[in-house]
Amino acid sequence: MTYSHDVLRVATISPDTEAEGPGRRWAIWLQGCSLRCAACCNPEMFDPRRGTETTLAVLDAQLVAARTAGVEGITVLGGEPFEQPAGAAALAEAAHAHGLTVMVFSGYELAELRARPDGARFLAAIDLLVDGRYDRTRPEPPPPLGRRWIGSTNQTMHHLTEAYRADDPRMRAANTIEIHWKDGQLLINGWPSADALVRGIRTKEP
Ligand code: SF4
Repeated sequence: MTYSHDVLRVATISPDTEAEGPGRRWAIWLQGCSLRCAACCNPEMFDPRRGTETTLAVLDAQLVAARTAGVEGITVLGGEPFEQPAGAAALAEAAHAHGLTVMVFSGYELAELRARPDGARFLAAIDLLVDGRYDRTRPEPPPPLGRRWIGSTNQTMHHLTEAYRADDPRMRAANTIEIHWKDGQLLINGWPSADALVRGIRTKEP
């Protein structure tokens, strides 16, 4: 499946979460992942035909609203963000234009991404990259022994810009789970393990 540069196939969006990276973030789960790691926590996001096609114009308006509300950055995950590299690059560039930082979770390793001719533009717009396939045989221990937001010990957090410091205390805080009420449905996001702290329920709509 090919994607237009101004449309992304989206699984879901959390407009204001503190469970998917440093600080308050606008998080987007992109639909489609061909890597299919065993025990992936989002198998419903494998099929690239599912999800909702969403224009960058619509997403850009959400970024403006998020920035106005005090969100500090966006997080792009999925699914596999680099399976929609042009649209994801445009989204990340828009985020920077609005003063938002960009964090991305990819199942591909950084060396693989750098070898891809279609990955350079997206990579250039990322501040914080967590790379590598999830390996359930090598689980990351929970913080403070392990790293926050990291699933398995083979994965690496790359600081591609100076937006975040490795010694930022938020990098070693406990993982969290959030429960949101959105569009008439419950959305649970964050860290799917027993060590995670449940941050509470936010009602986004009456
Ligand atoms: S790369 Fe990520 S989304 Fe894709 S199968 Fe692996 S853990 Fe799941």
